[in-house]
Amino acid sequence: QFITFEGTDGAGKTTVLNQVVDEIKPALGKQLLTTREPGGNPVSEQIRKVILNKDETDMDDRCEALLFAAARREHLVKIILPALKSNQLVLCDRYLDSSIAYQGGGRELGEKAVLDMNQFATEGLMPDTTIYFDVPVDVGLKRIAKHRSGEVNRLDLQEHDFYVRVHDAYDRIAKRDPKRVIKIDATKPIDEVVNQVLSVLYKRAGN
Ligand code: C5P
Ligand code: MG
Repeated sequence: QFITFEGTDGAGKTTVLNQVVDEIKPALGKQLLTTREPGGNPVSEQIRKVILNKDETDMDDRCEALLFAAARREHLVKIILPALKSNQLVLCDRYLDSSIAYQGGGRELGEKAVLDMNQFATEGLMPDTTIYFDVPVDVGLKRIAKHRSGEVNRLDLQEHDFYVRVHDAYDRIAKRDPKRVIKIDATKPIDEVVNQVLSVLYKRAGN
């Protein structure tokens, strides 16, 4: 089972993922792998550094999309596929939908173009389930302003409209693929969001 967490910045994916793990592990009956792109493998981490480097202010958008896809490929092959082969439950913070939303929508490269380009990287491997943390752009950005401190990376420096396009793209993804993508209201208090996510996981990944 391959399950991804998606949503715009400040939606709470990472926070909720960390809490969910402690709850679900004992009840699962199989091994759990939690990971995030780029996932801690050396090649993807290097690529990530190039993408996020705030001195790269004039990186071409298609180059950025290709780098994300390359990092995704390596993470898929080195981390996700081996875990799936040994029948683990894989929970992954961001995957292909992030590129469709951020590079396809946000950077306006086109959702289909970015999907097609990523097919080469993923060989068509899609998550069984995607939990989409839906939060209005302004709420997310406010949360980030509060919680993130210090280092600013290149991707933090986007204008407001960028995030609106990302959010709109996520909404379209959810509509296009309602069987796979489960949308949850991420404006709710964290405990409620955690419970919603847990109930999805038990339904979709329980034995
Ligand atoms: O995964 P995380 O939320 O930490 O993402 C780090 C940064 O990368 C965020 O600013 C996010 O907006 C950006 N991002 C992006 N395109 C992707 C994935 C993430 O611009 N495909
Ligand atoms: Mg995060």
